Amino acid sequence: QPEIAELLARRQAHLARPQKNYYAAPPQIERGWREHLFDVEGRAYLDMVNNVTILGHGHPRLAAAINAQWLRLNTNSRFHYAAITEFSEQLAALAPDGLDAVFLVNSGSEANDLALRLAQAHSGARNMLCLLEAYHGWSVASDAVSTSIADNPRALGTRPDWVHAVLSPNTYRGTFRGPDTAANYLGAVTPVLEAIDAGGEGLAGFICESVYGNAGGIPLPEGYLREIYAQVRARGGLCIADEVQVGYGRLGHYFWGFEQQGVAPDIITIAKSMGNGHPLGAVITTREIAESLEKEGAFFSSTGGSPVSCVAGMTVLEIMAEERLQDNARTVGDHLKARLAALIDRYPIAGAVHGMGLYLGLEFVRDRTTLTPATEETAAICDRLLELGVIMQATGDHQNVLKIKPPLCLSIESADFFADMLEKVLAEGW
Ligand code: PMP
Repeated sequence: QPEIAELLARRQAHLARPQKNYYAAPPQIERGWREHLFDVEGRAYLDMVNNVTILGHGHPRLAAAINAQWLRLNTNSRFHYAAITEFSEQLAALAPDGLDAVFLVNSGSEANDLALRLAQAHSGARNMLCLLEAYHGWSVASDAVSTSIADNPRALGTRPDWVHAVLSPNTYRGTFRGPDTAANYLGAVTPVLEAIDAGGEGLAGFICESVYGNAGGIPLPEGYLREIYAQVRARGGLCIADEVQVGYGRLGHYFWGFEQQGVAPDIITIAKSMGNGHPLGAVITTREIAESLEKEGAFFSSTGGSPVSCVAGMTVLEIMAEERLQDNARTVGDHLKARLAALIDRYPIAGAVHGMGLYLGLEFVRDRTTLTPATEETAAICDRLLELGVIMQATGDHQNVLKIKPPLCLSIESADFFADMLEKVLAEGW
């Protein structure tokens, strides 16, 4: 493939190196359709990792709506146009009662930065609580609360003094194991909160994903968020739910991740899915919290909430409802999870299946007692899956969990193809 080799060499020369490819020898993708991607030679790959394109690749109606809006008008939110009003209304209607003020931005990192600023402006404090093994974005503030060493090896180093990370409540391989460990993990939060109290500077808030995405979709222990939310609020802090990956119907059984814990946050951040690939992010909060930013001046994003973005966002919601994609995430996700769970009985390397809906993780271990992560094996399994026409990647601090987050339009046949190919690879000797 001389053409690909040449393009990769030119990419190395001019695209800044930290922008990595998934694979050392990637296929050159040319076209996408629903849950499939096609390379320049017409070969199909099942895309099992793209957690942005919830409707699937190349949705013609979304493309037509974006195109029509581009031709008619695109500008910024300092002007008034109907689409921004309508889209904000729709987002507020999706959120729990009381969360009815919407900021529109362009990405998850921006949404989380803004959420952190809102918590600090509202509380008048700086300190933020977050979880270890988490990812919230690459921008300065979202990066400061991102503790996953897989995405950010610097997270092992010192964090800014306003960031307080608590033990990752990973019920599979964390310090305390098993679903009934909420009290143990909450016990680890207490000294951190006491130290913040003793510092006298107050607590601005707490940010986390309501289902632990970076570790492969591990649910938080029952009751964990209810208790932390209560303790944070008792100190005047705000609770931020980062729903960038987990929210918007991907769980199948719930629209929002926090529903699983029976709580409602003060601030929701979303991005990824809501634009199906068109850059779009949002912060949804209460009117009172939103207005606390006014003491710092007005909020403005040159492209956040543009007419094209709003139309893209509304069309995504319309298609999601028409194609019943959350229901599909539930039925196909339940089916796929059962097929993956069956692998545990047959292959010792398959340690556990995490998650629900189309937000799943299959964790590979070398030993089921020590839970030694099968990191190199996971990379080799992903490479072999590519040869069999499946795009799959590893996630987690140990890069030993398959990151199974396909488009929500995934068919049962595609889910079975993925499970069949995975089983074929495992049967080859893992
Ligand atoms: N939060 C979470 C949970 C994410 O998974 C991501 C992206 N992987 C982000 C925030 C950052 O979003 P973006 O890449 O759009 O800035």
